Amino acid sequence: MKNTRKTFLDVPVDDFLEFTRDQDVPVFHAKQVYDWYFKKGADDFAAMTNIPLAFREKLASRYSLHPLHLSRKDVSALDGTIRYHFHGHDGKDISAVYLPDGDRLSLCLSTQVGCAYRCGFCASGLVPFQRQLSAAEMLDQILLIQKDQARPVTNLLFMGMGEPLANYTQVLQSIRWITSAQGLGMSPSRVTLSTSGLVPQIRKLADDGVRVKLAISLHAVRDEVRLKIMPVSGRFGVRELIKSAKYYFQKTKSPVTFEYILLKGVNDHLADAIRLAYLVKGFINHVNLIPYNPVGSMPYERPSPESVARFQSWLRQRGVPVFVRKPKGLDIESACGQLGPEAMSNTPQVPSKRKWRMGAAA
Ligand code: SF4
Repeated sequence: MKNTRKTFLDVPVDDFLEFTRDQDVPVFHAKQVYDWYFKKGADDFAAMTNIPLAFREKLASRYSLHPLHLSRKDVSALDGTIRYHFHGHDGKDISAVYLPDGDRLSLCLSTQVGCAYRCGFCASGLVPFQRQLSAAEMLDQILLIQKDQARPVTNLLFMGMGEPLANYTQVLQSIRWITSAQGLGMSPSRVTLSTSGLVPQIRKLADDGVRVKLAISLHAVRDEVRLKIMPVSGRFGVRELIKSAKYYFQKTKSPVTFEYILLKGVNDHLADAIRLAYLVKGFINHVNLIPYNPVGSMPYERPSPESVARFQSWLRQRGVPVFVRKPKGLDIESACGQLGPEAMSNTPQVPSKRKWRMGAAA
């Protein structure tokens, strides 16, 4: 579905207020528009019944309220994880993953269509970079999913398709809306931003006073190994990356965690654990171990559960708080590293996926 109108959220607030004044409409009605979008889940401008009809019509002729259109959802038969598919204004497919776990309702957002970083273990890296998502498109993933679920999400993860820090301005703008009282009013401590390690942007994030949790996708502790699985390491080495993470931690006092995908025979040796423990010393937060989730033709294997437990205990023995992330949404290609085009994951050990179209079984 193509939509050529601009989304009202992509208009800077001051410009939107000025537009409102130009229509001879009191500015408090502009503020009500934000309330209808963020707090009342309006589907369109027509639903905003406390706003003068003529202004609603003017808004509808000029702007769209929702830049995304929910096209389908895939529900995991294993654990209830849901992969939402949206169409952008240009018809591009954009995915977000909803991860319910008791009272914790997490949402993993995409920030780009495709990804230019091409990490060797990640399905998103197999989708050529096509464009950045706007802040409004990131926010709309949240708003449309909250509406579909009829309850607010509790935790947001910028960990879907794309490198968030390569879309710095729009990601920052979306975080401002997420954490502001006028927007979603979430605490920054409930927002996690993941990066493959763009050192200048990590430092800038600290300087800009953003206080979200930072998740560094480390995945290897030596440059030569990291370069093989994450081409971005050619620009920023491990040492430089750790320094920038320390800078972020010291400047913002916000938690920094380290993500480490365990690839059998590649980065799961004792020497890797020893160096990892050394690198993360001084950070009070933890390491997340992610046993590799299979992706199509990629040449990696998941280590055995015993190897994963051994790696975890090597870190624990060295005083590192460490967790093993349970895969979620494995049967719908939505576990960590699997968010690529459909039917890419090679997961023969799990039941076939159950597909839903707009909430109805297909
Ligand atoms: S891990 Fe992140 S940066 Fe790397 S290819 Fe996947 S989405 Fe891109």
